[in-house]
Amino acid sequence: MLIRGRTLSFLRKPESLDDHAAYAYESDGALLIAEGLILASGAYETVKAQAPEGIAEIDHRPHLILPGFIDTHLHFPQMQVIGSYAANLLEWLNTYTFPEECRFVESAHAQRIATHFFDEMIRHGTTTAVAYCSVHKSSVDAFFAEALRRDMRMIAGKVMMDRNAPQGLLDTPEMGYDETRAVIEEWHGKGRNHVAITPRFAITSTPEQMRATQTLIQEFPDLHVQTHLSENRDEIDFTCSLYPEAQDYTDVYARYGMLGPKTLLGHCIHLSEREMDVMSDTGSVAVHCPTSNLFLGSGLFPLKKLGRRAKPVRVSVATDIGGGSSYSMLRTLDEAYKIQQLQGERLNPFESYHLMTRGNAEALSLADRIGTLEPGTDADFVVLDMAATPAMALKAEVVNSLADELFLLQTMGDDRAITETYVAGKAVKTGL
Ligand SMILES: [Zn+2]
Repeated sequence: MLIRGRTLSFLRKPESLDDHAAYAYESDGALLIAEGLILASGAYETVKAQAPEGIAEIDHRPHLILPGFIDTHLHFPQMQVIGSYAANLLEWLNTYTFPEECRFVESAHAQRIATHFFDEMIRHGTTTAVAYCSVHKSSVDAFFAEALRRDMRMIAGKVMMDRNAPQGLLDTPEMGYDETRAVIEEWHGKGRNHVAITPRFAITSTPEQMRATQTLIQEFPDLHVQTHLSENRDEIDFTCSLYPEAQDYTDVYARYGMLGPKTLLGHCIHLSEREMDVMSDTGSVAVHCPTSNLFLGSGLFPLKKLGRRAKPVRVSVATDIGGGSSYSMLRTLDEAYKIQQLQGERLNPFESYHLMTRGNAEALSLADRIGTLEPGTDADFVVLDMAATPAMALKAEVVNSLADELFLLQTMGDDRAITETYVAGKAVKTGL
């Protein structure tokens, strides 16, 4: 199949608004796709010449085609936690989130929410997400079964937590280890599924569970590891009181061998310079969750500062549903922009769209599969309409550059601006 439209794909991180060499843009572009892969991309006439005669063609002009969005941190069992009225992280967890996650012991509930979860991902143009399931293996089974059914590239893990939560949400170091191993055996590499080793955070894991986590990481060094770090001052103080031997919060994870290039650490708002150095030295990724940070009043993430240090820290962006308040990566980057504004920093639209696509793919070490429109990669992409609503259409009348178009989509756009989502070469949003 031949997909025609205006195409945009990043080659590397843009250094400025004028860094045109950082991306490939075709005002009349095309993708040649077959068997779930992009076979060729570029100018329409060039790609058309490589296609077999009489090939089916879908014309999305004047809309813009981008790689599918990637969300590097969210919680699948928190779809019904979104918009819960709480003062801060720990109150929000104890009052709303933990009780809701207890319901995922029931497979029927987990399966119902999994259906909604994947519908929302597709509706919002997110083709890959990195998810926390609940502590229950049933939640992970429901998640990966649905991912397999939809042929989506997903990363997820069974949450391990053995203290400081209701009884219905606790495993033990042994159970967390055994069930994670079972999940890896059943789901890792099946379809496009990736399993992540997922201790929730240091507060809810005993040192024994952290040691079991370390063992898993040693046994499965290729797997992603995800947890939370330095989101909120009370959380940091509580963590340090539980691990008095550690120098700081980051050192808790370092002591259990949890840091490295496949490790995704949600939030990282209040890191010291020492902690940033450790993140940089280990190649760990700081995952920025703007709507969540604002909603829970957690703080302002130093995105630009982390990138320009002598020892830069790798970063990615994410929704953090349900602490986050939108499934949309467009809404997410709009809030990321404002968080930088409040710190006197600029986040230009090319940087934003790089982050949502190739940047996040690189943070996941998956840029050879997703995040670009390059030949040989998965045919996961989205079609964007900058005139999706009457208010957007009015503003679009005065937009006359690609940067302005991207910025309009980010500032005013949401799921309504996603006219189509393609997963493994198939249009899946229409007909949801
Ligand atoms: Zn989170």
